[in-house]
Amino acid sequence: MIEFKHVSKTYPNGTQGLRKVNLTIEKGEFVVIVGLSGAGKSTLLRSINRLNEITEGEILIKGQSITRARGKQLLHMRRDIGMIFQNFNLVKRSSVLKNVLSGRVGYHSTLRTVLGLWPKKDVALAMSALDRVNIQEKAYSRADELSGGQQQRVSIARALAQEATIILADEPVASLDPVTTIQVLDDLQRVNKELGITTIVNLHSVDLAKKYATRLIGIRSGEVVFDGTADQASDET
Ligand code: ADP
Ligand code: ADP
Repeated sequence: MIEFKHVSKTYPNGTQGLRKVNLTIEKGEFVVIVGLSGAGKSTLLRSINRLNEITEGEILIKGQSITRARGKQLLHMRRDIGMIFQNFNLVKRSSVLKNVLSGRVGYHSTLRTVLGLWPKKDVALAMSALDRVNIQEKAYSRADELSGGQQQRVSIARALAQEATIILADEPVASLDPVTTIQVLDDLQRVNKELGITTIVNLHSVDLAKKYATRLIGIRSGEVVFDGTADQASDET
């Protein structure tokens, strides 16, 4: 599903974000990447959809090189990948529904999108995505009226409306309280199980990682230093 082949990233200032990473992630896995701040978690995750350009090696998605993809092919590959950020990245003044519909951008002409002429099918898809994360009743609220946990669920819904088969979540609970943290991770887990969405989450809490991951990848200084199940991780620590 996702294959890293000798992937390295050197930032322009010389910092090595990733060093010769080799990994294969299978369809439907719930992978948690753990490591201290600065270990390279974000660099690794963002290299998958090319928010971050790697400087060596190649990344394949469903057998196709995203590293070499250009133009329409790159857009097409990115559409398959939903991204969830620590700070939610919602349009604050827009409604929840519009935010979720923005996952459909690129499926229609720009004019339709600008005018907000969403096909009924898209609205239905967005509403059902909101329903899946139990927040449909907020569809017509402004995004910034929601709590952090609710906003994060909206961003999960946006990825679902996009019909992504891969979700990348970069520290999705870092700005949430402990109770909300569990709710958001439960939602990600449910979506992973029910829809078979391949999910890769960056967390700095090893305890949370063990609770949710079907597979844990530990990184340190840009290198993979652990790759195994939560049980194996417990044996190590
Ligand atoms: P993590 O997500 O685990 O906190 P990052 O992937 O953000 O780690 O960072 C990995 C390393 O790369 C760190 O040393 C960080 O300072 C460095 N780094 C991240 N982004 C940049 C950048 N844009 N320019 C230079 N160095 C960077
Ligand atoms: P994260 O939440 O991923 O740890 P950071 O606060 O480390 O984010 O980084 C925020 C932004 O600063 C990112 O865009 C990252 O690429 C950039 N950055 C991080 N470390 C460095 C660095 N050493 N030099 C330049 N930019 C950096």
